[in-house]
Amino acid sequence: MKRKGLLFIISAPSGAGKTSLFKKVIERVEDIKVSVSHTNRSPRLNERDGVDYHFIKKEEFQEKIKRGEFIEWAEVHGNLYGTSIENLKIREDGVDVPARSCLLGGEEDNRLDLILVIDIQGAEKIRKVYKDAISIFILPPTIGILEDRLKERGADSEEEIQRRLNRAKEEISYYKDYDYVITNDDIDKAAEELRSIIIAERCRVCNLE
Ligand code: 5GP
Repeated sequence: MKRKGLLFIISAPSGAGKTSLFKKVIERVEDIKVSVSHTNRSPRLNERDGVDYHFIKKEEFQEKIKRGEFIEWAEVHGNLYGTSIENLKIREDGVDVPARSCLLGGEEDNRLDLILVIDIQGAEKIRKVYKDAISIFILPPTIGILEDRLKERGADSEEEIQRRLNRAKEEISYYKDYDYVITNDDIDKAAEELRSIIIAERCRVCNLE
């Protein structure tokens, strides 16, 4: 028995704690990959090219748009972010990791599930193309905590923090468009919730082929 490679869309306002959350989930879930987006924003201190993002120049990004290399792209906080079509293929090909099906002790399954971490605009575009995508919104516990996290990160100027906070407030109002919502007030609990959603979706009969 086989199942299709699942596509998870995850949106979280800046400072909702998504980076640490993913690290935990990736450690605890087999056969899943997080798509690495392209962006023209500068890397933060602890970020690595090709791991956190593919960091490219604005002109290069615009060339890629022209060549139709992105399945979706959006401007967020004044920077461009995009998901390359190439990244989505992994879920069909699954070439580099021998995946084990979690289902019914099943046969070898060479497909992978994929997580896209994208903003609300990107989520809307992907949902239109991939109707079976599963969307999850990560909420910060409170706006105050969000502000503290952005400040503690020390990566952005006060002006940038305010811009991100305002955008976060707007983004949060879209959580009802998503299939699931997780409040990240406790990282271990949130990671367990995200893991449970992934595992439950893997076992849904409608995802079997
Ligand atoms: P940050 O600069 O904090 O890493 O990300 C800013 C926002 O851009 C976040 O909401 C993040 O999810 C979003 N983002 C990252 N990659 C993509 C992408 O490929 N497409 C879209 N639409 N948004 C993205």
